[in-house]
Amino acid sequence: MNNIKNTSLLRATCSANDDAIAILNPANGDVLTHIPLISVSDIHKYIERSVLAQKQWQSTTAAERSVILQRWYELMLENSDDLARIMTLEQGKPLAEAKGEVMYGASFVQWFAEEGKRTYGDTIPSPSSSKRLATIKQPVGVAAAITPWNFPIAMITRKAAPALAAGCSFIVKPANQTPLSAYATAELAYQAGLPRDLLIVINHHSSVVIGDVLCEHPDIKKLSFTGSTGVGSQLLKQCASTLKRTSMELGGNAPFIVFDDANIDDAVKGAIASKFRNAGQTCVCANRFYIHDAIYDTFVEKFTQAVSELRIGNGLEPGVSIGPLIDERAKHDVLSYIDNAVSQGATIHYGGDSLDGLFVTPTVLTQVSQEMDIVQTELFGPIAPLIRFYDDEELLTHANDTIYGLASYFYTQSIHRALQIAEKLEFGMVGINEGLISNEVAPFGGVKHSGFGREGAKQGIDEYMNIKYLCFGGY
Ligand code: NAP
Repeated sequence: MNNIKNTSLLRATCSANDDAIAILNPANGDVLTHIPLISVSDIHKYIERSVLAQKQWQSTTAAERSVILQRWYELMLENSDDLARIMTLEQGKPLAEAKGEVMYGASFVQWFAEEGKRTYGDTIPSPSSSKRLATIKQPVGVAAAITPWNFPIAMITRKAAPALAAGCSFIVKPANQTPLSAYATAELAYQAGLPRDLLIVINHHSSVVIGDVLCEHPDIKKLSFTGSTGVGSQLLKQCASTLKRTSMELGGNAPFIVFDDANIDDAVKGAIASKFRNAGQTCVCANRFYIHDAIYDTFVEKFTQAVSELRIGNGLEPGVSIGPLIDERAKHDVLSYIDNAVSQGATIHYGGDSLDGLFVTPTVLTQVSQEMDIVQTELFGPIAPLIRFYDDEELLTHANDTIYGLASYFYTQSIHRALQIAEKLEFGMVGINEGLISNEVAPFGGVKHSGFGREGAKQGIDEYMNIKYLCFGGY
């Protein structure tokens, strides 16, 4: 049964009309429901309400804010089956993965419920005997976020939880393809006791229009964006007009490296998890595989066997491990990347088929070389290009030869090599003998064109706070 309206979490739906968008199920094209869109003047009204709410909220104690966040976390867990189902229906990822994302998303709420109580300032030894120096941290004010469709809950809570814990109010524009998860998650925050004006979800026909307002409005003090590098770069320019604080979580091109001394079975397991989660549509997905010549053939054989065991289908069906791509454009792009790689000399070792609807078989490409376009492209789909390498120096040059710098992975059993390679990879995150690295306690973020700012961890809340320096004179 695919009727999405049978969950009480979906209060923000409506019937079809000119001021609504249809939300589609990518697994079969069904219209799940409609979401009301708001006008530009409504966005401005919401911002005014958010400003007022924030002034009150910042005067509550961190402990009071923590109680509400903790309750929100508990409600997310209690409603995790409903949230996961909504996510699978609108986004397509298998139900078990959706449940995993709900838990991952909730973990940020719990983490920042605690971290909000630890936003310490400093006392600073004074260079002058007549002065005493200290710092305090204060919320930036109204924070706004624009988030993508690939993690429709976690990309919101990873920003909303630290913002709210810090004493900010929060306005989010989720992707127009996956707003239901956002509205459902916000509904639980309200049920937890959060005033509605502190967490506002907005959707409009045009993301460009929302972007203009959020970037250029003087009362919004912070913009946190997760999405593509091109859009992030555009939003940054727009934020310059109001000198807004910004965090940019952008695209990636993760190398996945298997050295000749690696445990190959572990590497295959990590490669499958890193590459094919969410049908390859994650910013930290392994994007290109560098396999040492000495173990290349063994790795290809074992990896291909594991890929052939992945089951494609509607994410609601038990046992499915790969769902549909998000839309026609995504499918077209994935197929054209494969065609292009083949035209440049790559071989389709496994898969490469376009199936009905938005499904593409997981694909293994061999005979891939560093010069091919596929090595420089963020694939965002279930394609694994395998490149043979011979020595560590050449490997490092190739692995770092990208504008991106988000995640990277390598497998080795040598501690010496692990330290050396980890230090030399130009990426914000490195998985060593591990294909899944994200969690709420570690700082998530990139360098180079993958953006700046860190989410999660003790650093995540600093993105929503200003440091104020206090100088006590006349001592
Ligand atoms: P996208 O096209 O940049 O869209 C992301 C969000 O930005 C959506 O809400 C979209 O709204 C909105 N948007 C698009 N154009 C805009 C504009 N001109 N002004 C204001 N808002 C605009 O990215 P995507 O294709 O959805 O997501 C995939 C990208 O996100 C990949 O590059 C991936 O690597 C990156 N990503 C990064 C991270 C990270 O943590 N670093 C995490 C997840 C994803 P509409 O949906 O309404 O168009």
